[in-house]
Amino acid sequence: MFVESRLKFYKEHYPESPSYRLEQFERAFFTPGIRSVEAMTTLSKTERETLKDLPWLTFPETLILTSKKQDTFKAIVTLHDDKKIETVLMQNRRGHWTVCVSSQVGCAMACTFCATGTMGFTRNLTVDEIVDQYRLWVMYLEDRPELAPRITNIVFMGMGEPLANYQNVKTTIETILRYTEIGPTRITVSTVGLIPMLTKLLDDETWPPVRLAVSLHSADPTTRSAIMPSSYANFLEKLLEWTEKYFAKFATRRRHITFEYVMLSKVNDTSAHAKALIQFARRVGKVRINLIPYNFTGDIYRDSLPEDFAHFENELREAGVLVTRRKTMGDDIAAACGQLVVENNKQ
Ligand code: SAH
Repeated sequence: MFVESRLKFYKEHYPESPSYRLEQFERAFFTPGIRSVEAMTTLSKTERETLKDLPWLTFPETLILTSKKQDTFKAIVTLHDDKKIETVLMQNRRGHWTVCVSSQVGCAMACTFCATGTMGFTRNLTVDEIVDQYRLWVMYLEDRPELAPRITNIVFMGMGEPLANYQNVKTTIETILRYTEIGPTRITVSTVGLIPMLTKLLDDETWPPVRLAVSLHSADPTTRSAIMPSSYANFLEKLLEWTEKYFAKFATRRRHITFEYVMLSKVNDTSAHAKALIQFARRVGKVRINLIPYNFTGDIYRDSLPEDFAHFENELREAGVLVTRRKTMGDDIAAACGQLVVENNKQ
């Protein structure tokens, strides 16, 4: 049986049910040890009978790949309509786990260095489809006592542009915050930089205070437009204006904004690009640049030469810009950033 939304399904059957019952029902999907509606002792016997065919995970099939180092797992998930998405579990610095979730089947942003970008856009994922990527990994770890047990972080860095699926991503975050121990500073939404949606998020009083990462990839407008078709001439100015509003709104939290920067050899990693980035970072202020080694997705680009990468990183650091380098994980199972693509989604 496929149900578009578990919560809606419950509400349709029990419209009179008070909200705490609804919450109990939803919470059971996050309770360790419970693996079926039949096992939900908070439900009445008749409720259990009515709801018993609800699938425990909304998607019928998953195939899990393991990296050689056993620190990264990728699930290829088949959805009810046979579309496929991917979600990744990776071990973080503290030895806990970070889950990377997809928010769409495919992506409309068409970034030229990203494998998902070449697929085109198929559809948004539902709340259950995003939430269940996390739940899949919770159960996976529950079943494997030899692995560290805790998932501490969630990143919206899988397939799709999360802010193009705003409401479902928001509800997913609210659900995770309500039923798990993961706090808002442990959740990161990564966006290509959709200014109208970023603005909407600032105006949205109930948008949860999660971390944001913007995929900048170049502080030179011409370069950025060449590698990211969603960019445009005055994008950087618009982004700058937006960051001012962002810092004004979150002034008390003293937090920075993260810019992601994938290092493409001779394309955006020259000294001139570093200087443009330094200038832009200074104008923005509280910013962290996260340099991402390019993961192979096709013949157009090469990853930065080690000396170019180091030089770029040093120039930023010497200019006083906060810079970090993202560790590449799971590239042997094509689970690294930008490598998420499923062949038969291509149309
Ligand atoms: N749509 C969101 C999420 C994308 S995936 C966004 O644009 O931010 C998360 C990060 O991986 C993004 O910064 C994306 O630009 C980056 N990425 C895409 N392809 C990559 C590749 N081949 N190698 C390394 N990083 C890549």
